Order: sequence, then C-alpha cells, then structure tokens
Amino acid sequence: MTLTVINPATEAPLAELEQAGVEETDAAVLRAKSAFPAWRAVAPADRARLLRRLATLVEEHCEELARIESRNVGKPIGGARGEVGMVAQVFHFYAGAVDKHYGETIPVAGGEAFTFREPLGVVGLIVPWNFPLNIASWKLGPALATGNTVVLKPAELTPLSALRLAELALEAGIPEGVLNVVVGKGSIVGTRLVEHPDVAKIGFTGSTEVGRLVMSGAAGTIKRVTLELGGKSGNVVFADADLERAAAAAPYAVFDNAGQDCCARSRILVERSAYDRFAELLIDATEALKVGDPEDDATEMGPLISAAHRETVAGFVDGEPLYRGQTPAGKGFWYPPTLVAATNDDRIAREEVFGPVAALIPFADEAEAVRLANDTPYGLSGSIWTRNGARALRVARAIDTGVLSVNSNSSVRVTTPFGGFKQSGFGRELGMHALDGYSEVKSVFFSTEG
Ligand code: NAD
Repeated sequence: MTLTVINPATEAPLAELEQAGVEETDAAVLRAKSAFPAWRAVAPADRARLLRRLATLVEEHCEELARIESRNVGKPIGGARGEVGMVAQVFHFYAGAVDKHYGETIPVAGGEAFTFREPLGVVGLIVPWNFPLNIASWKLGPALATGNTVVLKPAELTPLSALRLAELALEAGIPEGVLNVVVGKGSIVGTRLVEHPDVAKIGFTGSTEVGRLVMSGAAGTIKRVTLELGGKSGNVVFADADLERAAAAAPYAVFDNAGQDCCARSRILVERSAYDRFAELLIDATEALKVGDPEDDATEMGPLISAAHRETVAGFVDGEPLYRGQTPAGKGFWYPPTLVAATNDDRIAREEVFGPVAALIPFADEAEAVRLANDTPYGLSGSIWTRNGARALRVARAIDTGVLSVNSNSSVRVTTPFGGFKQSGFGRELGMHALDGYSEVKSVFFSTEG
C-alpha cells in the first residue's frame, strides 16, 4: 500500500511512501530490541555526546526541516523554524540530563539501600500531525537519554520530518536500530505497537478517543503509557487585566497552527463588565491576523491539515458568528479565523474543535470564572489575565489543568513539565519530569553484615 503525502496549502503531492503493516512493525521492534543491550551500555558521557551531536545537526538543518514541516503541515514557515529550534533545544537539554538523573541512598537497617534508574527497553512513540517533529522530540529526548531504544510512528498525514530526523540520528552516530521510524496507519502499526509483547511502553500524543484505545490495548501486557490528549482550555480574562495586551495576545493562543493545537485557548472567558470592550479589541486583533501562503515569512496562519478535517471544523459553526475572517481563494484546506459568542454549555465550548474557532463566554465573578474553566472533561492548559496578583495565584491553584500561564498564553518550555489533568491524559513531558516516564526505579538492598 502506498501513501501519498499532501501539501495542505496547495493539495499537491509531496511524496509517495510505502506503508508498513504488522510484519514491518514487528521487524522494527526486533531491530530496536536487538539494539537495546548495546545502547543501554553506552557510557553516559558518550550517550550525551551523541544526543548533543543530533541537536547540532538539527540546528544545521533547521531551514530544511522547517521547510519540510511547513509544506507537510501547512504551518507558517516562521513558526516552523521556531519549532525546529525547540527540537534542537530539547536534544541539548536531554544530552545534559543523561548524567543528572540520579538515584538515591535510603537509610535502612543492616546495610544500604539504593535506587537505580533503569531503562524500560523498547518504547513505542505514537505522535499526531499538528506538531510532528516537536512532539516526537519531546519523547525521543528522554527516551534515548535514559537508554531506551525506540520505534516512532508518525501520523500518516505528516511522516516526512520524522523520516529525515532518523537519517540525521544515524549521521550523528546514534547506532542503527536505536531510532526506528515506521510509517503506517494508526489502526495497524499503532495497534501493533500497543499490543506488542516486546514493547515496554507507549508514549502517545493524540486525541482522547484514541488515547482510550491505547490505554485499554496496553492493559494486555501491562505496558506503561504516557497519554498526552485533547484539550479545551480556558483563557480567563478579568476586568482588571490589561485588556489591550490580553486581546492582542488572544488570537495567537487559539489561531496559532490554525487552531490545531492541544493547548489552544479556545474558550475565551471574559468578565461580563469588560466583555463588550474586550470583544471589540479581540475582533480588531483577529482581523489583523495574516492568513495565507505558509511559505511567506509574514504569514501567521495557514490552512487546516485536510479536507476531511475542514469539514469537521465547519460542522461546529452554526449561524452567523461574531466574526469570520478571510482566507485565500483557490486550492488548499482553508478555514477562516472565527469568533463565536457562546455559553459554556454550547457544543462549541464542550468539544475540541481543533480548528481556528474560538468561543467567547462571559462570566460574572471569580467564583464563576473558576467554575466555568473547570466545567470541561479536559485539563491541559489555560491562561489567567489580571493585574491582581493574589487573585492570579488563587485562580491558578483552583483551575484543574496541567499547565497555566498568568498574563501570557505560553504553555511549553523545554525545561518545565507539560501534560494534562483529567481526560487530557497523564504523565509529564519535557523538563526533568519526562525522564521518570522512560525509566523504572529499581531498589537494591546491600547487606553490610557478614
Ligand atoms: P489521533 O488520535 O487521531 O492520532 C494520533 C496518532 O495515533 C497518529 O499517529 C495515529 O496514526 C495514531 N493512531 C490512530 N489510531 C490508533 C490506534 N487505534 N492505536 C494506536 N495508534 C493510533 O490524533 P490526531 O488527529 O493526529 O491529533 C490531534 C489530537 O491530538 C487532538 O485531540 C489534540 O488535542 C491531540 N494532541 C495532544 C497534545 C498534547 O500534548 N496533549 C499535543 C498535540 C495534539
């Protein structure tokens, strides 16, 4: 079976690839299993050096990788460059973490007790199409740093950057078999990785729906799983905030990557007394967003990933929205930035749209803001805008979500933990926390008697 990879901005084919089936997946797992003993035995400083080299190669190939990502996902080239820059930083960070992931000594009677961090073995990494290389790196960095070998399954729609990264890993000197990329369907390759007895862990990023399948499939072999799933995050704007700043930033928090972002602040909760003023500012800021050719340096928003996804997104918008932007004419899976006035009970506020549609929802006071922010099955990220520091901290502690920012909409940093509460998943990526998800703690007692 061949797979045609498409540029969503032009609908032109980018590549024809052979798709793997169960047999090819099993072969990749076997390669990873065979490479594991030697990889775990690589001296920490040498493993660090190899990851450092990979980071440097990613930096040297930044423009090439960014072009691949921009064409395959339809994301603006400026953003794609930033993402590739982060991939390099991730490998630099985990190169530095290899020899800092310490065990402990624990006071016990009759001897000494130590803990060791052991690699898991072969880990299966399954990633989505919205930030293909970035999200792959968040898993690869800690997985490789802790001595695991990997089978990486990119999304069917966006396999190109992962394939190029695997070539760069070999060029960096990371041995054959340590990083294997298998291109194929989630229902075939993904399912096989989840069920394979020689795969010790699945690091999964994707929808909550598929996350559920991964979790239940993993039960058969008691596989470890990290699940980074969907979101419906709140951007909570109090009347005492710097409304101009909050409104200027809000479009980027939901229309970035054309809204195909698990951290999208797609519910903009605004204190009622500031609602009209904020809505006016937000519409102006959204109007200024540059939607167009992803290869143009000035573009801020590109198309959606596919025609089918555009149909799904369009299905969320009934009637006349508060604001609907423009899109280029002609080919490409375009959908305009759209603002909808809503309540938190509307479908647009309940379900993950994963497109450039934001729901504007009023609230009466702090208690209602917290109640509405938490009234969702998800808990991935969110923002709080206020000039009142005490309120910012109170609300930050009260919102059930894994990542929050105050007077900012940023979610992701190389050094800080990232992951969800509730049905947004569990486990943490990035920072030192991610290392725990790719290693087992072993406790050893050493008798000093006799
Ligand atoms: P998806 O769940 O459809 O697919 C994700 C990956 O899982 C793909 O590689 C796919 O091939 C694979 N897959 C599909 N069926 C499978 C199965 N039965 N078994 C194993 N693997 C299978 O998600 P998507 O449409 O690619 O991505 C969008 C979703 O990802 C959104 O819900 C978004 O919120 C979520 N996401 C979450 C994060 C996060 O960090 N929390 C980040 C990015 C995207």
